[in-house]
This record gives sequence, C-alpha cells and structure tokens, in this order.
Amino acid sequence: MSYLELSGLQKRFGNATAVDDVSLGVAKGESVALLGPSGCGKTTTLRMLAGLIDPDRGSIRVDGKDITGLPAHRRNMGYVFQSYALFPHLTVARNVAFGLEERRRAKAEIARQVEEALALVRLSGLGARKPRELSGGQQQRVALARALVIHPSVLLLDESLSNLDAKLRDAMRHEIRSIQRSLGITTLFVTHDQVEALTMCDRIAVMHRGRIAQIGTPEEIYEKPATRFVAEFVGRANALPAERTAEGKVRLWNEALGFAAPAKGAFDVFVRPQRMRILPLSEATGPDAVRVTGRVLRSVFVGDHVEVLVEGAGGQLTVEMPSGSPAPGEGQAVAVVWPVAESRVFARDAA
Ligand code: ATP
Repeated sequence: MSYLELSGLQKRFGNATAVDDVSLGVAKGESVALLGPSGCGKTTTLRMLAGLIDPDRGSIRVDGKDITGLPAHRRNMGYVFQSYALFPHLTVARNVAFGLEERRRAKAEIARQVEEALALVRLSGLGARKPRELSGGQQQRVALARALVIHPSVLLLDESLSNLDAKLRDAMRHEIRSIQRSLGITTLFVTHDQVEALTMCDRIAVMHRGRIAQIGTPEEIYEKPATRFVAEFVGRANALPAERTAEGKVRLWNEALGFAAPAKGAFDVFVRPQRMRILPLSEATGPDAVRVTGRVLRSVFVGDHVEVLVEGAGGQLTVEMPSGSPAPGEGQAVAVVWPVAESRVFARDAA
C-alpha cells in the first residue's frame, strides 16, 4: 500500500477534461515527478491533492486515510507555488511562521521551529529581512522553509524552480533533493523540465493530455519509453520512417533489419542520437547492430558533443558524437551503426 494514493482522479473544466483517470501511488519518503508539456494536467492534479480544487471523480488517500473531502488547511500538505507566493509586507521569519500561527502554536515553539526551518534551507540570520531584500534563489528557499515548517506529510512543488536562472536552478535541484532525502519526506513535484524530473526524483510519471502515459524510474522512462509521446518528450530521439518487408520485418533506409514490424499501419524506428556511432563504410559490424549508410550533411560542435547530420535513402538522422573524437567531414560517405536493442518501434499516428 502506498503512502500517498491517487485513484481515478478526474477533473473537467466545461467540456475539457484537464485530468482524466489519474491513478498513482507514492511510497513513504519517495519523490515522484509529474512531467509533461504545458496544459497536460500537472498543476490541476497537484491542486486537487492540495485541496485547492475538488476532483469530479476519484479519491486521494494519505497513510490509508481518505482525504478527498478535507479542506486544504486540514490536509497537512506543504505546497510551494511557482511564484513562491510570499507575503511581501511580512518578514522572512513571519512568512515562514505563517502555517504555525494558523495552527495556533505557542510563540516560543514557533520561534524555535522557524529557526530550524531557516537553518535547513541555509537562511539562518536572514529572518528579519523582507522578501524583496532577497535574491530569487533565497526567496525560493523561504517558500520551501514555509512549506516544511509544518512538518507536512506530503510536500508538493509546482514548477518551483522555473523562475531561477539556469545555474541557480541546478544548485537548488540538488539542494531540494538532498533536503527531501534527509527528511525522508514524501514529495510530488510538477515540472515540464525533463532534467529537473530526471535529477530530483525516484520515479517519473509522464503526463499527456490529462493521463499518465508512463510511470517508472528515470532510467526506465529514458531507456524504455512505453509510448511514442514519451520517447519524443523525454530526451532526444531520431524518429526514422520505416517500411515493412514481405516477411513482416522492419526495412530502414533500404536495409532489412532483424526485428518485426507492427502488423499494420505506418511506423517509425526511434533511436537516441548518442547511442548511434559513425563508422567508415569499410568497417564491418556485428549481427546485433543496425547499420545504415548515408552521407554527412554537416557536423556541428555543441560543446560537450558534436552533432552529425547524415542523409541517406530514407531521410536524415542526427548522431551525437563525444567531442574530441574525430568528426567526419561534410560529404563523406559513412555507415551509421547502433545496437538493435536501442531501436524502438512506434506507430506513426499513435500518441
Ligand atoms: P502548465 O505547465 O502550463 O501549468 P499543466 O500541465 O499544469 O500546464 P493544467 O494547469 O493542469 O496544466 O491545465 C490542464 C488543462 O486544464 C489546460 O487545458 C488548462 O487550460 C485547463 N484549465 C486549468 N485550470 C482551469 C480553470 N480553472 N478553468 C478552465 N480550464 C482550466
């Protein structure tokens, strides 16, 4: 039994179904990312958990107790909003104290807990400042301290790093992850940023059009995408149009491959660019490899790798080579090779 259990959650706004039959279990102490493009229903799901909107159907349980009908303030959930939602006229300490004051805790206890929470997010000594006297990263820490100070049973984070610059965001990801781990706090966070999802969680639930397309560890999602949408949304992939041979196998760029094509309909072979290698035409490849041939259109140096665009009988593909390895020159005829196991076949019209 999961600590946090969402069962068949649904929410409609007018005729549009924002969240459609979402079920998800989160273990105690686990961190799960809801990852998906804008409008897929991530925030609506989170807001139903927080008690800010009511689901039309489905239930939410925490530690075995059904909390679906409880008002927000009785759910004991810590919520960090994208905008931080700090009170500008209150000091940092009063902002953090808010949830404790609402719960009518004793003054001395509040002071002690606020100190502890500020220390946890490395803001000790800044309690007397106003939010506007803090950097973006510091404000985000205040929002986190405010959510954690009530010792929530579940922590909910909504795109809470998206207002920070890239470097700070990276630092905060690691910091939040380490606080989450050290407190062992059950966490659900919403993001459209796959790096954030991959680095901050134990498991990812990829959302698409109000539904969960796949749930798994970052490795599972990346290595074994269950749907075409997941393969396209998480990480980069070449989607190579392919054909069916008379024997029902895949034919790609005029090469018959050893694995089966779908029984009917148009389909593509998906391969991650960094799993492909470029070889001279003369070099042979083993039986476990796919090998197609083409001509190099261009090589682009992108810092930590080189992107090589290759054109062949069936179109174009991109290979990512580690920078430092000798890149093939434009116009050169090459073989592009990858392990059969790195090929995933998805129907063309499938979502
Ligand atoms: P984003 O990353 O852009 O915040 P999201 O995945 O969090 O997107 P939601 O905010 O959950 O998506 O929205 C899901 C769908 O529900 C969208 O089509 C949105 O327009 C719609 N929606 C959300 N809230 C409301 C509302 N209060 N009234 C009407 N439609 C809404």
